[in-house]
Amino acid sequence: MNPPGAEPCRQSLSPFRVVIIGGGVSGALTAVHLLRQTQHCLSVVIIEPREDIGLGLAYSTACDDHLLNVPAAGMSALADEPEHFLDFARRHLKQVQAVDFLPRKFFGFYIRSLLAEVLENGSEPPGSFTHVQDLVKDMERCGDVYKLSLAGGEVIVADAVVLALGNLPGRRPNWLHKLALEDRHYIHDPWSRERWSQVQTAGADILIVGTGLTAVDKVIELTKETLSVPRRIFAVSRHGLLPRAHLALPELDVPPLTLPENTALAALHYLKFQAGQKADWRLAVDGVRGCTQEFWKHLPVLQKRSFLRHLQTYWDVHRHRMAPRIADYIKGLEGSGRLQVVAGRLEKMDLSADGRRVEVVIAHRGGAKFENLSVDLVVNCCGPQSTPRSIDCPFLTRLYERGMVVANDTNSGIKVDGLEVLDGAGLSSRNLYALGPLLKGELLESVAVPEIKVQAQELARLICARAGETRL
Ligand SMILES: Cc1cc2nc3c(=O)[nH]c(=O)nc-3n(C[C@H](O)[C@H](O)[C@H](O)COP(=O)(O)OP(=O)(O)OC[C@H]3O[C@@H](n4cnc5c(N)ncnc54)[C@H](O)[C@@H]3O)c2cc1C
Repeated sequence: MNPPGAEPCRQSLSPFRVVIIGGGVSGALTAVHLLRQTQHCLSVVIIEPREDIGLGLAYSTACDDHLLNVPAAGMSALADEPEHFLDFARRHLKQVQAVDFLPRKFFGFYIRSLLAEVLENGSEPPGSFTHVQDLVKDMERCGDVYKLSLAGGEVIVADAVVLALGNLPGRRPNWLHKLALEDRHYIHDPWSRERWSQVQTAGADILIVGTGLTAVDKVIELTKETLSVPRRIFAVSRHGLLPRAHLALPELDVPPLTLPENTALAALHYLKFQAGQKADWRLAVDGVRGCTQEFWKHLPVLQKRSFLRHLQTYWDVHRHRMAPRIADYIKGLEGSGRLQVVAGRLEKMDLSADGRRVEVVIAHRGGAKFENLSVDLVVNCCGPQSTPRSIDCPFLTRLYERGMVVANDTNSGIKVDGLEVLDGAGLSSRNLYALGPLLKGELLESVAVPEIKVQAQELARLICARAGETRL
């Protein structure tokens, strides 16, 4: 279907073929902007194995208690219409306030509706938007075009390709290396509904590895599902830090601050100082949101690495916060002893002699004390990965091997110039683009909707300009 205002494709003029790999929020918003902006004959294809476009990992949850971690007023998917999500929510839900934290699945419905609206408004002939429900396995450059090989055997040719691969799964972690935990004792992918349906959680003791937002999501699901409630949940991470809570009535208009552009430590001192000056520390953290990408871009590589090693955990728990209702709920579970958060390193993990339990030894932070746990199930909640050696994404690994993408200087995600992908020789690959979590190492802030929506709009502008150059 063609977008409004676009020239219908003439028979003699083949369309400029844009293939977006990944149909989460990043892919869906790129398609929306391409279809809205184009004045040329454009064919937009999204390759995404999920049935629905626009949900991806974060918004495909079916759980009503998985809430957005940003108030409704901050979740517009359109950069130049800041009230867009709030207005949509007010049309579909009762009594929505700007400060409300709405269910993530409702946000998924919003993104799907946005794409559907653009497609419905389009004119004939149809066919300029297609969802191919498949997985890309490999890609190579052949002259001016890209050839993509799909898992189902199909080969698709593209003039421009967008990598919107999003939150990538991790390989089996080191702490499992020697241990062949049986499937009934270990869940590697905490998002796999199929895997959860194969294990017994009712009355079980569960160890969650990780204490970030993924772990919080899983604790909520486990304790709210009345038929499968575990007896006790332990959550372990090196620092044992849970995400902090948002204010119950978050400030929406936060005065912007500017980070000093020299060292990570100077920025930390500045943030601490500002936090002390404000009515609440969250105003300082939120105040630097607008300048974080620029600050990061100018930070020397050694400083970035040092930040990622020593400060990132602290930054993440203050920056990516829980909705107040969720934070209260988690606190209640801790208070009742049903959830115990442990700070330490996994030292040992073995099947018990009778093979029925997993015996775990955790070295507490500082190393002087050890804790022994006996659990029924271990769940990997280490969250999405971005380092090439730790990801489990054969397609991206193939691109690294082919030298079509290269790890960025902090070895986290890929190297880009703006939104254009750089190859192994450091050159811009014509018409190969990326956005979203893949750019986290380059921008620090590149995983959430407020950043993704700006990238998607800018990317569509770039691609439409290229399509114009090529076809005129
Ligand atoms: C649990 C969770 C909660 C979050 N909550 C919020 C929030 O409240 N507010 C906020 O602003 N941000 C939130 N985020 C940040 C979130 O990352 C972004 O909002 C957004 O979902 C990222 O979208 P994406 O499309 O880049 O990635 P994803 O959602 O990960 O989508 C990528 C898609 O690419 C597909 N894909 C991958 N490889 C291939 C391949 N080879 N071939 C074809 N398809 C492929 C996958 O199937 C997937 O659907 C949350 C993230 C998570 C993980």
